[in-house]
Amino acid sequence: MSQVREIKCPHCGEWTLWQGDIDDRCLYCGEFLESRQFSREVERKIRNEVLKENDYFFIKPEDGPVKRLLKRVLNSLRWWAFYLQIVFFIFVTLILVLISILPG
Ligand SMILES: [Zn+2]
Repeated sequence: MSQVREIKCPHCGEWTLWQGDIDDRCLYCGEFLESRQFSREVERKIRNEVLKENDYFFIKPEDGPVKRLLKRVLNSLRWWAFYLQIVFFIFVTLILVLISILPG
């Protein structure tokens, strides 16, 4: 259910109909009535898609409880591996810095 409202177009200043949808366009100039909100929505969608693509153990709504748990465990393991790599990198860098600082 969406209610039709009459609003003033922010682009051309004409009174046009707005159904409350983010992709509603002005009847006169064809611009999006909620342009800022629309781009934010698109941005959010793209970000969600990227997240989904990165996450190859993405939990689907049709997955059962066992599969969900398994995926969650695998996901956290993957993140741990990722953080361990960063910690290891910092550790190695620190050792290299220490070696170069220490009088040889
Ligand atoms: Zn307009």
